[in-house]
Amino acid sequence: MLEDIVKKQYKEFGIDEDVYEFGKKVLEDLKPRFDDIDKVAEINHLRVMKAFAKNRVRTECFNTATGYGYDDVGRDTLEDVYADLFHGEAALVRPQITCGTHALALALMSNLRPGDELLSPVGKPYDTLEEVIGIRESKGSLAEYGISYRQVDLLEDGSFDYETIKKAINEKTRLVTIQRSKGYATRPTLSVESIGELISFVKNIKPDVIVMVDNCYGEFVETIEPLDVGADMMVGSLIKNLGGGLAPIGGYIVGKKECIDNAAYRLTSPGLGKEVGASLGVINTFYQGLFFAPTVVASALKGAIFAANIYERLGFDVHPNATEPRYDIIQAISFHKPEGLIGFCEGIQAAAPVDSYVTPEPWDMPGYDDQVIMAAGAFIQGSSIELSADGPLRAPYTAFFQGGLTWNHAKQGILTSLQKLKEKGMVTL
Ligand SMILES: *Cc1c(COP(=O)(O)O)cnc(C)c1O
Repeated sequence: MLEDIVKKQYKEFGIDEDVYEFGKKVLEDLKPRFDDIDKVAEINHLRVMKAFAKNRVRTECFNTATGYGYDDVGRDTLEDVYADLFHGEAALVRPQITCGTHALALALMSNLRPGDELLSPVGKPYDTLEEVIGIRESKGSLAEYGISYRQVDLLEDGSFDYETIKKAINEKTRLVTIQRSKGYATRPTLSVESIGELISFVKNIKPDVIVMVDNCYGEFVETIEPLDVGADMMVGSLIKNLGGGLAPIGGYIVGKKECIDNAAYRLTSPGLGKEVGASLGVINTFYQGLFFAPTVVASALKGAIFAANIYERLGFDVHPNATEPRYDIIQAISFHKPEGLIGFCEGIQAAAPVDSYVTPEPWDMPGYDDQVIMAAGAFIQGSSIELSADGPLRAPYTAFFQGGLTWNHAKQGILTSLQKLKEKGMVTL
């Protein structure tokens, strides 16, 4: 009965019955996995609640602070919540940190000094960091300040190249950056456990090296986070996982007090540090977003797994594959043809709550080398914890799909993408 109504509703959205039935069949096998995802969300929910209670989150925290922001209780309490929740000594969680790239640049630039060397033992970092580091020449890069960079790629099978990493660590190596999520690459995403193994290896060779983990898209996918396995800093964006879809801006850094202090003095000013930076009227969304985040991440994960199972069955290359464990919320689907990538994005856009009537087109996005196509009809502009898909227009024409504030929406988006691909003759069901 209800099933018939659901089917009819989908039909009104232009989803054919065979598309709906295909999705339904795929879902039947996914129930045990979805149960596990709900368990992880439950555990993370309880961790959040514990940190809220311990730090006495209260109505006063939601007061709007303006101006310098001295003694901004909402801001200071939230930073204590983050530090407790993720087992750091301190945290910087601010609307003045404009995005993930900014948070990462801040952590790097404040903890490195001229003459130091930065090492990435996990291959090329996320596209926007190329300009931060100076891999691509750029105004204000670390390279301009005399900070050198070294990189060791992952081995063919995705494992760490320990031998070459050992050789790459030298007297100048000051900071090691580890990117948890694959980003716009087809390498595997790292589990927190494997990040821990890499950190132990590196610190064994050079104990005083600072290890930073780019934690974007990884938060709350597992029940432990990078600081639990020896990282000195973990860094991310609030318009991804931890903002829970509510934070309208922001980034965070959690970790060792010394590292966080350095970042604070760089974000504001030497002498001022964490003492200034009014939380304005947005801090309540940071709290409420964090409260929702475990459930939102679970919805996004279900969407990613559903998409992997659908498109793998239809013969496309999917990373991770249909059955692999998950360490971030990103699903990569390689269509090997530009029309596949573009069609997929059109479907995600058509299913969006905002701007569902527009058609996404490839464009030259600042900070990226190739043209990028993006589908996002988000409540928060550019938010990728909301249902979104994007990908650079280069072979193998991979769509990076992520987000979904609710599972229902993730499911609707994926079925709409499948409908578009069917209409373009890219799939036969
Ligand atoms: C999104 C992302 C970034 C950059 O964050 P922005 O908010 O887009 O600036 C950096 N690293 C990884 C792995 C990311 O996913």
